Amino acid sequence: MTPDFHAHLTRTLAEIEAAGLMKHEHPIGTAQSAHIEVGGRELLNLCANNYLGLADHPDLIAAAQEALEKDGYGMASVRFICGTNTVHRALEERLAQFLEKDDAILFAACFDANGGLFEPLLGPEDAVISDALNHASIIDGIRLCKARRYRYANSDMDDLETQLKAARADGARHVMIATDGVFSMDGYLAKLPEITALAGRYDALVMVDDCHATGFMGPQGRGMPHHHGVDHKVDILTGTLGKALGGAIGGYIAGPQAVIDLLRQRARPYLFSNSLPPAIAAASIVALRLVEQGDDLRERLFNNARYWRDGLAQRGFDLLEGEHPIVPVMIGDAALSQRMADRLFDLGVYVAGFFFPVVPRGTARIRTQMNAALTQKDLDRALDAFARAGQETGVLS
Ligand SMILES: *Cc1c(COP(=O)(O)O)cnc(C)c1O
Repeated sequence: MTPDFHAHLTRTLAEIEAAGLMKHEHPIGTAQSAHIEVGGRELLNLCANNYLGLADHPDLIAAAQEALEKDGYGMASVRFICGTNTVHRALEERLAQFLEKDDAILFAACFDANGGLFEPLLGPEDAVISDALNHASIIDGIRLCKARRYRYANSDMDDLETQLKAARADGARHVMIATDGVFSMDGYLAKLPEITALAGRYDALVMVDDCHATGFMGPQGRGMPHHHGVDHKVDILTGTLGKALGGAIGGYIAGPQAVIDLLRQRARPYLFSNSLPPAIAAASIVALRLVEQGDDLRERLFNNARYWRDGLAQRGFDLLEGEHPIVPVMIGDAALSQRMADRLFDLGVYVAGFFFPVVPRGTARIRTQMNAALTQKDLDRALDAFARAGQETGVLS
């Protein structure tokens, strides 16, 4: 490495540290669960995307073990050379059936699904209209395609209509609206009924990234389009196997047959990156069964979310309104949110503080997430810790 380049990196790292933005990792010594162990200490985990508590489910572990024995460890190939096991197609068909779409295509992660989606489908004659709070992977995927880009303020339907008009006035051939199904920093739900109605009026396609919904929002956990009853008006869905569906790794796109067929030919992360381990695909099929039959898990999840919200509100915390198991506790000041998270860690509750640039300046928060594996006793313990940490740090006055 040249001395200049080394100095440049060191300076950048020092800037990150000085701004208080350095991210530190806490290695967990146990399975991902409601109760975890970090550095020999038992902690309650309130920041995993493990919404249904499936990450350590015995049926998923058994299915993965069985597939490991039968199909081995890795594929050592992309899908189209020799990386397609029968279980990959079985999972794609199962996902399509679950999401009520023609077909589905697997990726190594939803980051790759979103990264590979737009470029094969949209050219320079086309337009893509994106919510300002969309996930980084949607933003990057759109950057990689040649379509004209338009952006609307988060969930601002007047602004969306303005952008649709602009795209049409600019002579766009095809127009696609891209949105998260749930905005993960706030737990706010995208306004899919309004978005799909506007799309109908301006002859636009709709793409929804449902990572923070698949498995637990909507009937049988089919996600936000079903939750809002507009699933037949959402053309393309992307999602992850890395959150509610067991939490391992993998992403997918589901949609019309021609879309999936073309992506199989042209999506670069699909063509040029290794295929998912069969054990993960096999366990994901079991995860979808548990999800479809998982009304009890969803009931526990949403009971927990209600109990948690009410408990925090009673203790005087400032929350963002909502119904999603993401419950952001608003703190405001970035440094204070860090102190609060650190104090909670000492008290045995693992949460993460989010601040600029992840959320707007002055809106630092602790994003708590409920899951079905937490008990009421766990939540009572966490509420006591929040109250104590809130008083000690001055978050509660
Ligand atoms: C988590 C997430 C992703 C990334 O999913 P991975 O499978 O972990 O790559 C993409 N979009 C949204 C909205 C997410 O929340």
